[in-house]
Amino acid sequence: MHESRPAPALWVVVPMYDEAEVLPEFQARLLHVLDALDLPARVLYVDDGSRDASWALAQDFARLDPRVHGLKLSRNFGKETALTAGLDAVARVENVAACVVIDADLQDPPEVIPELIARWREGADMVYATRRRRLGESGIKRLTAAVFYRLMRRLSATAVPQDTGDFRLLSARALRALAGLRERQRFMKGLFAWIGYPQAQVLYDRAPRAAGATKWNYGRLWRFAVEGVTSFSTVPLRLATWVGMLTSVLAFAYGAWIVLKVFVWGISVPGYASLIVAILFLGGLQLLALGIIGEYVGRTYLEVKQRPLYLIEASVGAAAPPSDAMP
Ligand code: UDP
Ligand code: MG
Repeated sequence: MHESRPAPALWVVVPMYDEAEVLPEFQARLLHVLDALDLPARVLYVDDGSRDASWALAQDFARLDPRVHGLKLSRNFGKETALTAGLDAVARVENVAACVVIDADLQDPPEVIPELIARWREGADMVYATRRRRLGESGIKRLTAAVFYRLMRRLSATAVPQDTGDFRLLSARALRALAGLRERQRFMKGLFAWIGYPQAQVLYDRAPRAAGATKWNYGRLWRFAVEGVTSFSTVPLRLATWVGMLTSVLAFAYGAWIVLKVFVWGISVPGYASLIVAILFLGGLQLLALGIIGEYVGRTYLEVKQRPLYLIEASVGAAAPPSDAMP
């Protein structure tokens, strides 16, 4: 008799940072959805250095339900890295059917998961959930998000689907492909898009946060946007070159005009104002170009250091690697 292999399982990766307030409700709703699925399911909570009871809760969940696993990072690494840690752990597991990524704050409704699975069964390797409306988010946040997606589309060859967060399903081969992208600057939306493979979209309404507060502020969003642009586009570098060239041409034309004036009408009033304007303008442009180059050089520096992306402090359940594992 041949040995019966367990059926491939669906893995759900949940990055969490100080989510103790919503976690019990999230876990209940998620398990309710998973119970109704026709394939086995596993949950992997990735604790991104929470300061509250999130990790203790995840450990409790794991004790109560053998399907639940947990990974605790050594400190807060940011959502993108926490997600990577979770996906890496799942990529090491045998017999993965597909993997779903979902936020713990219930803004991504777990009830959408069966739809993601349906699209995946129709042959899509990546099924992303796109929000139809953003409830409970300020007009300014919506506006900045819209501007950002448009900018990204213009600047980068890798098209990032608009209004799509990290909530999505990845097939086993998409998961493997993603695990092979080891860059330190992890703009996940871009990395997801870079993979390619057949993609499908599911629309849903994004609910407001169930409890707790968002960890995003404008400083963080700005860094996120710069990350997105610089990891997937070198257009800003080219922009610096073009602006530099344009100003040089203008400066040359202006210089020629002044020389001509001297020859035709003789020396006139010394142009203090125009001199100052030119100096300030060119100085500003040079600083801008230097700043842009600096962003890229800095990223190259971070990349060549080849540090591990994250460190794992503790784990519960079978899926998690030993705690001193180096990713
Ligand atoms: N998160 C994380 N590490 C962080 C910040 C956030 O793992 O440093 C998790 C957070 O717990 C949540 C998800 O990432 O599950 C999305 O975070 P948040 O709701 O703050 O972002 P938003 O929904 O506003 O984009
Ligand atoms: Mg949220």
